Amino acid sequence: MSLVSTRPLSEIIAATTNPSDADKKLVSEAYEFSKEAHKDQKRFSGDSYFVHPAEVGFLLAEAGMDARAIAAGLLHDTIEDAGVKPHTIEEKFGAEVLGLVEGVTKLGTLRYRGLERHTESLRKLFAATAKDIRVLIIKLMDRLHNARTLEHVPREEKRLRIAQETLEIYAPIADRLGMSVAKQELEDAAFPFAYPKEYEKTRELVKERKNENEKRLQKVEHDLKRALGEAGIRHFMTEARIKGAYSLFRKLERKEWDITKIYDMRALRIIFPSVADCYTALGIIHAQWRPVPGKIKDYIAFPKPNGYQSIHTTVYTGDGGALEIQLRTEAMHREALYGIASHLTYKEQQRGREGGRRGLDWIRQFFPRLRGAADLSGAGERREIVPEWVHELAHAHQESAESKEYLDTLKSDFFSHRVFVFTPKSDVIDLPMGATPIDFAYAVHSDLGNKMSGARVNGKMVSLETALRNGDMVEIITKPSAKPSRKWHDIAKTSMARKQIRAALAAQQKK
Ligand code: MN
Repeated sequence: MSLVSTRPLSEIIAATTNPSDADKKLVSEAYEFSKEAHKDQKRFSGDSYFVHPAEVGFLLAEAGMDARAIAAGLLHDTIEDAGVKPHTIEEKFGAEVLGLVEGVTKLGTLRYRGLERHTESLRKLFAATAKDIRVLIIKLMDRLHNARTLEHVPREEKRLRIAQETLEIYAPIADRLGMSVAKQELEDAAFPFAYPKEYEKTRELVKERKNENEKRLQKVEHDLKRALGEAGIRHFMTEARIKGAYSLFRKLERKEWDITKIYDMRALRIIFPSVADCYTALGIIHAQWRPVPGKIKDYIAFPKPNGYQSIHTTVYTGDGGALEIQLRTEAMHREALYGIASHLTYKEQQRGREGGRRGLDWIRQFFPRLRGAADLSGAGERREIVPEWVHELAHAHQESAESKEYLDTLKSDFFSHRVFVFTPKSDVIDLPMGATPIDFAYAVHSDLGNKMSGARVNGKMVSLETALRNGDMVEIITKPSAKPSRKWHDIAKTSMARKQIRAALAAQQKK
């Protein structure tokens, strides 16, 4: 009783970004191998098991991942669930694909315990465990497909666990990686199972307001296109952004469930060739509609920590309501939707091509919902958008942003410049490489730092200069008479610890 059909290989190849013949061969072979390996297995839905890895492969291709990641996505359950031997994967698909598959398999053994405190811990541990950033992305797509098929999971308890895990661990990771499409889809797939009542309530409210919002959006879109045209701006695309149900629910909670206070249920997005166009358009918009005070956010000048860039403004639409408008460039748009995933292949793609961009073909393929497409191929200024942590990485490794090594670093060392250590209660503290027990103590609490007299790492007393290592369990010993010293200040690696030590020293001097 097969309920859904398996994603055909041709669709996966078609979704792959600029595949070479070798890429196509790799993906095809992984597809056939996985199909054969899972042939006797079924999903809870009654579908053949292979539906799942095939879909994961497709999602990875859609997100713009490279052929090896797609192959690993197709193969991700073959070791764990189909008894395939690791050396077989290595022989057939190479060490890199095996590394990815094993990474995903290893992540699968981590379990959520349902405690708030553990969630943050697990999220960080999860991040630390994934040495290759592609492992995390494969795992995210694996979870996305599982979340979308949650209705078939027989035990309610298990459905609830998976849904909560998805909301509290996977969606925030997608967000951290700047993958907003994946984040929203993960949230909206899990929401009805994690909070059934709230989901129904949210859905009812959306239904009530939907027509009104859509009409308002269409009217503004129409007037805006004309205003931009009159000002000589003709190269742009518009898109309606519909807020995800879960994110709307979270916002409703903050606004006492008053939906009239929410202006971005539907937002109008306008995509321009250049940054300059975004600012010009902002002026035109504000000349036509009065902006809502305090709602103008310039994330182009001040990107969010995950790299997100756009200008947001909310305007009164003259009918008693308001609408959010988002302005961004094409490059910002791609980055905003696919985040790190777009970075990984896009750079490679640029290197591998004889030059030039794919222009509209590319954008149409990825954004089927775009309407009123104008020609963006004569794109002007294209600022490189690099999230903050990528800058840190690039700086740490002293490499040029264009080099092959840089890309490899991005893939393999995403979290390796951080150490993740544990408190005696198993909370994870995230510190920079080289951090000491002093940094740890101040990261937990300034009082703990200020009263520290010694430290134990994994049960053994250590000097305060000891560099902590991933997975260390650190215990701080305190004494009421203990005080920070100049020496501590010199040993500490984090600016937070140094700042607090300086403050404590200054307070001591005053006395
Ligand atoms: Mn799976």
